[in-house]
Amino acid sequence: MKKKRVLVTGGSGFLGSHICERLLDMGREVICVDNFFTGRKENILHLMDNPFFEIIRHDITFPLYVEVDEIYNLACPASPIHYQFDPVQTTKTSVHGAINMLGLAKRIKAKIFQASTSEVYGDPEIHPQTEGYWGNVNPIGIRSCYDEGKRCAETLFFDYNRQHKLRIKVGRIFNTYGPRMAMDDGRVVSNFVVQALRNEDITVYGKGEQTRSFCYVDDLVTGIITLMEETPDEFTGPVNLGNPGEFTILELAQTVIEMVGSSSRIVFKDLPSDDPMQRKPDISLARKAMGWEPTIPLREGLVNTVEYFENYLETL
Ligand code: NAD
Ligand code: UDP
Ligand code: UDP
Repeated sequence: MKKKRVLVTGGSGFLGSHICERLLDMGREVICVDNFFTGRKENILHLMDNPFFEIIRHDITFPLYVEVDEIYNLACPASPIHYQFDPVQTTKTSVHGAINMLGLAKRIKAKIFQASTSEVYGDPEIHPQTEGYWGNVNPIGIRSCYDEGKRCAETLFFDYNRQHKLRIKVGRIFNTYGPRMAMDDGRVVSNFVVQALRNEDITVYGKGEQTRSFCYVDDLVTGIITLMEETPDEFTGPVNLGNPGEFTILELAQTVIEMVGSSSRIVFKDLPSDDPMQRKPDISLARKAMGWEPTIPLREGLVNTVEYFENYLETL
């Protein structure tokens, strides 16, 4: 039987590389498209001698002509440091990138997944967040290039669905962590783990009372692929994908210090502007429509993450 051919944009990034790997394990042929802005060859090095894996260096804000059966659209810098580095390019990646990938999907009649985000809820006034909540987003702040870009991408996905009958799947991903996070992208889990391993100060922004819910990457990948492959076409989402276990940032700092056995001290720094105070997914919809929920608690996922960074730091 002919292998299903799948395009993964952003395939050399943190999440994209895990999706490529899982799809290859499932017997798919995978084309990874990436401009290597935040993606790294080392994330996909182990896949390169697989004859069913192919890499194209390409920026999705430009048109792309390939022939595939399915598209996973993950291209977009995801950490504040990176998406704020060139905010105009970030919006272009979400908006022009979505138009190009939707145009491609339309021409070849492919099913397409969009990596949306909990950031569409902004600094949420309801807790936990359900898909029906429209969000509280500052349209002109320093996070807006990411938040509004992703919101507009969702609009485009639903208009292509209504107007052109495209088969779409929109997943709103909450904070995810695990091996292959970039150590220099400023995200809280990689920052804290690397700081703890080096016995450096742990930088908690604000008082550390803000909360996040952290999903281990393997659980998330299962969620995304279940959404894409095992739900009927009528189920478009948006659907929250995340782990509802909620922690304050201070709790995370203390947990990481304890698990690493580090002598790091906690220091408090200024809270960046527009930093959401709380975030926790309501995943009732994913449970009901997809039969999916995360299985890996924070402490378990952190073991693998710490081990990854321990090995990674030794290679530097
Ligand atoms: P990442 O930065 O590791 O990966 C993004 C990838 O996209 C990189 O390989 C980068 O080089 C590539 N890219 C960026 N702009 C591009 C462009 N114009 N053309 C082609 N490639 C481009 O980030 P990640 O954590 O793996 O996130 C992947 C996706 O998931 C993103 O769309 C992000 O918004 C979404 N997401 C991630 C999280 C999370 O916690 N990791 C949470 C919510 C949503
Ligand atoms: N596009 C692409 N690959 C394709 C088909 C389309 O990159 O195989 C891009 C193309 O640049 C186009 C965009 O997708 O501008 C939107 O395509 P659509 O057909 O929706 O609109 P139109 O071509 O009318 O602009
Ligand atoms: N954060 C922190 N110290 C760090 C990095 C991040 O206290 O070294 C905080 C940050 O202010 C935010 C939370 O951790 O409240 C999650 O930050 P991250 O950038 O990982 O994700 P996002 O804010 O996009 O959810």
